[in-house]
Amino acid sequence: MPRIIKFFETTLRDGEQTPGINYFAEEKLEIARALADMGFDTLDCGFAISGEPEFEAIRLIARNVHNAEICSIARSFPADIDRAWEAVKDADHSSIHPFISTSPLHREAKLGKTRAEVLELARTAVARGRQYTENVDFALEDTTRTEHDFILEVVGAVVAEGVRFVALCDTVGFALPREFGQLVDDVRREFPGVHISAHCHDDLGLAVANALTALQHGAERVDTCFNGLGERAGNAATEDVVMAIRTRRTDLDLDVRVDTTKIIPTSRLIARLSGMQPQWTKSIVGANAFAHGGGIHQDGVLKDRRTYEIMRPEDIGLPPSELRMHVGKLSGRAALNAQLKELGYDLTPEQLARAFPLVKHVLGKKKVLEEMDLRHCAEAAINPNPIANLDELVAETSEVSE
Ligand code: MN
Repeated sequence: MPRIIKFFETTLRDGEQTPGINYFAEEKLEIARALADMGFDTLDCGFAISGEPEFEAIRLIARNVHNAEICSIARSFPADIDRAWEAVKDADHSSIHPFISTSPLHREAKLGKTRAEVLELARTAVARGRQYTENVDFALEDTTRTEHDFILEVVGAVVAEGVRFVALCDTVGFALPREFGQLVDDVRREFPGVHISAHCHDDLGLAVANALTALQHGAERVDTCFNGLGERAGNAATEDVVMAIRTRRTDLDLDVRVDTTKIIPTSRLIARLSGMQPQWTKSIVGANAFAHGGGIHQDGVLKDRRTYEIMRPEDIGLPPSELRMHVGKLSGRAALNAQLKELGYDLTPEQLARAFPLVKHVLGKKKVLEEMDLRHCAEAAINPNPIANLDELVAETSEVSE
């Protein structure tokens, strides 16, 4: 049986650190409900001590979302930990997640603290959290740029205090997959039985690869954000990790306990409330992720969609791919016919033969076909006498760039 992995879903925290995003409390609650309903284990809902609105939003989620664990992060200071616990303590399932930077650069440039001071803050943070709950996780911020021996020292200290998950963080998206796998191996060798979560950023486009490598090396949980949101280039995208594992579960010997058919509705909810649309070519959730542009591809998909699709659109909550045949310069008749059928036209071969050059003619005049353009071409092909002046018809409905 493949091993089921866990998620620390941080759309509401690291995701909200995306420059430009600011959720209102009710919006956070709506997103939290969607994520919990999909089956994510822990929802990282925010940073309770960062301000009253954030605290209230976390508490609102804690009191209203019952089917996921509700978490607040905290710096490794007593007041932060107390505030985090205050925000989540009313939840049916709750956790707190202190963190501290461990790398020499962060220790010296940011914190102004020695190794001994950082170690002591980490230890006492977990000890203080454990007075409230057994569900205390701990993150070593910038783990991947930290001295090897110091990583093991900090992990040892928090394990001794009864930490639950240790988050190994590629905070700046610097690690290579092989290095991240090695890191997980080293920590697990030194501390057998330690539960590891992988927190990976996408600065070099390696977040998902690093997260998957960590899981293959024995990490049990990944930190992810929907639509690849998060600081700078974002975190490992939730939808990518979910579908990579689901699609290749036999080879990875891993699986997820998540309702994948809610990926698209949840992605769209988050896009709307965050005000950030995924790029068109974004894996899984981009507008073009299951759309086909080339005539050869379109013909193949219409004959057997497995020719160019490795996932079934309906498994992520999309209608079948016949609906996403892009009719463009490179398209063939098969795609045009499929698209016209979607619009309610069932053309004879002769009519289709007349419609096809009309469509290509319009595409010589404007960049993108609109639905009305396709309708005009179909009508003109069905009723060729008199053939309307297509350029005029196009000009009526939309701008023609000459
Ligand atoms: Mn982060």
